[in-house]
Amino acid sequence: MRKLAALVAILFAACQTAPGPTAPVEAPPIATPDGSVAFVDVNVIPMTPAAGVVAHQTVVVRNGRIESISSAGAAAIPRGAVRVDGRGKYLIPGLADMHVHLEYFEDPDMLRLFTSNGVTFVRSMDGRPRILEWKKRIASGQLEGPSIVTAGPLLDGAPPVQPDNTVIRTAEEARAAVAEQQAAGYDFIKVYTNLSTRAYEAILDEARRLGMAVAGHVPRNSSIVKALEHHTSIEHLTDFDELIEADSSPVRGRFHWSKLYLAMKADQKKMVAAAKRVAKAGVAIVPTLVQAEHALAPPETLASWLKRDELLLVPNDVRKFWEDRVRAMSQQIGQEDWEVVARGSSNRMALVKALQARGARLLAGTDTPNPFAVPGVSIHRELDLLVRAGLTPKEALAAATREAAIFAGQEGQWGTIEAGKRADLVLLDANPLESIRATTTISRVMVGGRFERVNE
Ligand SMILES: [Zn+2]
Repeated sequence: MRKLAALVAILFAACQTAPGPTAPVEAPPIATPDGSVAFVDVNVIPMTPAAGVVAHQTVVVRNGRIESISSAGAAAIPRGAVRVDGRGKYLIPGLADMHVHLEYFEDPDMLRLFTSNGVTFVRSMDGRPRILEWKKRIASGQLEGPSIVTAGPLLDGAPPVQPDNTVIRTAEEARAAVAEQQAAGYDFIKVYTNLSTRAYEAILDEARRLGMAVAGHVPRNSSIVKALEHHTSIEHLTDFDELIEADSSPVRGRFHWSKLYLAMKADQKKMVAAAKRVAKAGVAIVPTLVQAEHALAPPETLASWLKRDELLLVPNDVRKFWEDRVRAMSQQIGQEDWEVVARGSSNRMALVKALQARGARLLAGTDTPNPFAVPGVSIHRELDLLVRAGLTPKEALAAATREAAIFAGQEGQWGTIEAGKRADLVLLDANPLESIRATTTISRVMVGGRFERVNE
């Protein structure tokens, strides 16, 4: 029971410092025709590998791009530029949420929950034609929201995990689906839990042939070893059970509910070996800790989650759905099983730490809108959890900035503060390299050179 008490304590601690919610607000227009803005005398955190905080810099933005970064005393500020006093503040690159489910949104206004909370890039894991449309409109400046890359509609087997998943039964269907999604303009293929081995292998083969990336869950009948050879990313951590389960685990080698939460008995040495393997394969891992930590809760913890300020940003029916889902799942957990659930949390944290230590690429993703992952707000919770798992604040931030851009093949466009990059920027009141929770102290958000949010 001690572990459970510790888990609850951690969760309560999180609640007390909950990030403040932010509803989209209209930002003032920019004065000059080329939209020149100068962040004057600001502490820049460029998120390049070597740099930490670079103090007293002036960052000039023009035409949606970072034009220059220079010492505050020596900076040439264009005439008519909007000046933002950066003294005592910290400028970081816009954040990327690398695992989101936009298919739940009907109204593209919801996308501004991301940007108003500092998320300027999202990776959508289950595509729809309307998401492709939003992606295009955002890229051309017709719609406000984060830049998007999107999977096609996720490919599942029979029976599908969720009723509206696309079901692929044969190798022929698999090949056709990959080609169709590529032709439709989707960026990558997302594979899912119930795919048959034949369908899965046909997807992997066709995707390789057509040059489409594959990401997602390892199908239940396949192995993470295969996925490490073919995926560009693996989502969540639960697929690692086969690699890290302890020899002494009483449920070794067979299905048990605890494995859905990575809560079986695990072996630290095996975690290190698995981490080495991931690093060698070059596959990115998106742990979505915030989703896993909110899957189950005893009643008092659930009650505390429901009191978080950020839930005011979520429609009532969604809040009710989250509450009902966590309650229903949690009612299946017996008193003695809560210790098993807590072990899942420590296993995930230990695995994340091992992955980072062995040089595997970690990406910050939230699985929003899964329960209690509020769009935009949840990335700050994920960063906090990554630090609790043992990453430094800078390593955690890299998982939501530079590493995300490299993974997306867009490192020339965003992910660091350097001249020529897109002006996706977040101005903070406190230093996130000292305390990662400072990412919630948002003073301004700039998306492509335009102010999305001004908190002054
Ligand atoms: Zn997901």
